[in-house]
Amino acid sequence: MPSEQKIIYLDHNATTPLRPEVLEAMLPYLRDQFGNPNSTYRLGQQSRKAVEKARSQVAALIGAEFPDEVVFTSCGSEADALAIQGVSRLSNNGAGPQKHFITSQIEHDAVLESFRIVRAQGGEVSVVRVDRHGSVDLEEIRYHLRKDTRLVSIMFANNEVGTIQPIQEITHLCREKGVLFHTDAVQAVGKIPFSVKELGLDMLSLSGHKLNAPKGVGALYVRRRVNLVPLVTGHQERERRGGTENVAGIVGLGEACAVAQKELPIHPREFLWMRQRLEQGLLRLPKAQLNGHPTSRLPNTVHFSFDGVEGHALVVGLDLEGICISSGPACSSGSVEPSHVLKAMGVPASVAVGSVRISLGWGNTLSEVEEFLKIFPKVLNKQREVFKNFELRT
Ligand code: PLP
Repeated sequence: MPSEQKIIYLDHNATTPLRPEVLEAMLPYLRDQFGNPNSTYRLGQQSRKAVEKARSQVAALIGAEFPDEVVFTSCGSEADALAIQGVSRLSNNGAGPQKHFITSQIEHDAVLESFRIVRAQGGEVSVVRVDRHGSVDLEEIRYHLRKDTRLVSIMFANNEVGTIQPIQEITHLCREKGVLFHTDAVQAVGKIPFSVKELGLDMLSLSGHKLNAPKGVGALYVRRRVNLVPLVTGHQERERRGGTENVAGIVGLGEACAVAQKELPIHPREFLWMRQRLEQGLLRLPKAQLNGHPTSRLPNTVHFSFDGVEGHALVVGLDLEGICISSGPACSSGSVEPSHVLKAMGVPASVAVGSVRISLGWGNTLSEVEEFLKIFPKVLNKQREVFKNFELRT
């Protein structure tokens, strides 16, 4: 790609650019204010103050009652692992590890991998199915809840198709049965307004780089009185996550949360507008199918399957035009295996391989969307030709 080519970045569910105000807030902590927040002299205490300010900013965005309910981690994956493995490692009144857990088919690998570990350590995990829109079935969760169920973990919004789960209803179910509820809200935080306190959540994961903060920082909301066994031991983060704090990253996450909180009431409407235009434009193309829930969906996410083409080929073709989109979750891109999410939604493999995700974010404009809609059909037609010729030869 020529270096002067302007990039149209439409892959904000993979990662987001750092906002200038976030970088500004971080810079002092990468330069002179390098003190360890656990040191008692002033240089250290300045860092401590910055970390605690960020904790309050994160707590404010997610509607936590107390800032000390926010535990900083290195990423969203670590937050997921801390929630799930942290509960599974609790001793069960001396009767071995915690027993039964519930999750869904369409969770991010960070959650699914943690449950693989739980299983390997003797825990039982029930996996609830989703319908064709990617929504979990509440009745199935109710069916699986048992006396010894310790934790339910269902994502807030799906990273691929954007479907938002009925979180309020799941919380009610869990409360009724006295079961802890964790939600991976890595894709929801900053995109849709909610309050952990009002929803009654026990734990919630978030990640800095999905909301215009840097990579390498995340957080787990842990409601007071919820116990966890730390994965990294040490005295930091009230014994819940050891290790000297990533001060600059945490400051960046705090600032990004403050910015998101200010912009939340207006931002989703803008995205919704661009999303509608994208959907309209793409649905006009032959053999196109929109995936995900028709209404209960992230305002920035559009997921399509096109017949007679490979999603990966579309991504490569668009890249040559300076456009970044995704053919699957960033973590497993590079494989042509249809995603576990589409499979769970019942999308046939032959259709799923022709899938792409377009995810909007800060900095995107309607004119970029129009430009994309001009270029996309040309790339699609070209790649369909390539696919057809390849099929004829094989
Ligand atoms: N959960 C979801 C839903 C995600 O989309 C991602 C990243 O794509 C993660 C967890 C992992 O977050 P991180 O990249 O900060 O580890």
